[in-house]
Amino acid sequence: YNLNIKSIFWRVEKLYKDKEIISRTHEGIKRYTYGDFALRVRKLARMLESKNLVRSRVASIAWNTHRHLELYFAVPLLGGILHTVNVRFHKTEMDYVITEMDDKAVFTDKDIEYKSDKIPVYIFDEKYDDEIESQEPIKDFPDIDERQGAIACFTSGTTGKPKGVIYSHRSIFIHSLSLLAQDVLGISSSDVVLPIVPMFHISAWDLPFASLMTGAKLVLPGPRPKAEDIVNLIKDYKVTIGIAAPTVWIDVVAYVEREKLDLSPLKVVVTGGAEPPLGLIKKLREYGVKTYHAWGMTETEAIATINKSDDINKMSEQGYPIFGFEISLVDAEGKELPWDGKSAGELVVRGAFVTKKYFNNPSNILLNNTWFKTGDVVKIYPDGSIKVVDRLKDLIKSGGEWISSVDLENAIMSYDKVLEAVVVGIPDEKWGERPIALVVKKPGKEVSAEEIIDYLKSLNRFPKWWLPDKIIFVDSIPKTSTGKLDKKVIRDMVKSMLNLR
Ligand code: ATP
Ligand code: MG
Repeated sequence: YNLNIKSIFWRVEKLYKDKEIISRTHEGIKRYTYGDFALRVRKLARMLESKNLVRSRVASIAWNTHRHLELYFAVPLLGGILHTVNVRFHKTEMDYVITEMDDKAVFTDKDIEYKSDKIPVYIFDEKYDDEIESQEPIKDFPDIDERQGAIACFTSGTTGKPKGVIYSHRSIFIHSLSLLAQDVLGISSSDVVLPIVPMFHISAWDLPFASLMTGAKLVLPGPRPKAEDIVNLIKDYKVTIGIAAPTVWIDVVAYVEREKLDLSPLKVVVTGGAEPPLGLIKKLREYGVKTYHAWGMTETEAIATINKSDDINKMSEQGYPIFGFEISLVDAEGKELPWDGKSAGELVVRGAFVTKKYFNNPSNILLNNTWFKTGDVVKIYPDGSIKVVDRLKDLIKSGGEWISSVDLENAIMSYDKVLEAVVVGIPDEKWGERPIALVVKKPGKEVSAEEIIDYLKSLNRFPKWWLPDKIIFVDSIPKTSTGKLDKKVIRDMVKSMLNLR
């Protein structure tokens, strides 16, 4: 018996046919049952067959809607691979990843306006729905080996060109199952799940898969959801668990405060991709919402460690490895380091859902043929929980010593007049590199660079040479499409502000 998406589909169709999926679309709210959904998937599969898209690679450039979700099943059930493309990529990046993956067709939302003169582009609209409805549902899907690819996606491209990763049916099944465990997200059939993380990004797929596997109600937020849309969905459909990057929750909380609303009946916010500010976690708690802080990468099929601590001071840590996932800590030579909560080294990982190689890329990414090198610098505590210190590429090397940009950012953001901060290393003739901070003030607050430096000194945590050479105040800080600080762009921005280069 194979662990594949077919056996998730079996549960959807046979066990939970009266459960509900709610989808916010360009045409308004669509509500239907798992049973109707399953029938649509069978009809869509017939349509794909008629378009010669069996055992094919197919790209989607789409928002989180039911139509996108139908492809999550129909394409892999026909033995093909669904390649979910980042909707915020520029046209040239979209073309690059679609050509790399050799996709045979594109399915997309109308507002994305993707065009191609090489492969057919199908647009989600009423005509598309009518075409599906007119099909005879497929009765049997082909046999699929669990090792076969099912879904593909590219990394965010934060540190360079995006790299392609293909996930097997087996790894999707195991990862989704792991998410359901009580010690991980603990989603159950009585939950209402709102995945706001974009469904092109790996962190989003296994949430719908996991939710459908257990019969939870699924609410899909659709195109460009704003804070107001998110709060409305939470209220209207009684959402209990929402998943999004920290920046999204910062906006949601600001909106709720401004409008004097609350967040009930939301119980849990799952966040990750970047460290959530403690101020955000405290605010959510005031609204009766618990935060689960997760760490993961495209290469680990997203959520791979989780922190559900009740201790607010521990919430900046990334937590414990989930089921099917192992971690280890190594130095620059690949020698193992102790789990003492002090030694920092590169996190290396292995497990049922960890990539062993990139798509179409021969480079070796494994240590000793086993451990995937994450590029993240972490500490591991004796109990096996991790704390991310920085990315290898973002560590600042000054006078031969390392400075953690993330440590400094968090310290600056703990000052109550600061909304956001980022620290990057800028070339320096004498020291090699020096830290420079960009800071966004809280609305209505005045604060000077000296005040922030004095505050950092007062923490008694940082050696003198860690203190940023300059603090530059800005209105906003550039982020990547997945809500991460875009340090490539920020570094260039700071250099041009300082007239370097
Ligand atoms: P690329 O690999 O193309 O440069 P990327 O690494 O940003 O892009 P993703 O796979 O989306 O692409 O992101 C994974 C990275 O995000 C991790 O390696 C880590 O640096 C960061 N990250 C994820 N979760 C957290 C978290 N909870 N706290 C801090 N950093 C995190
Ligand atoms: Mg990466």
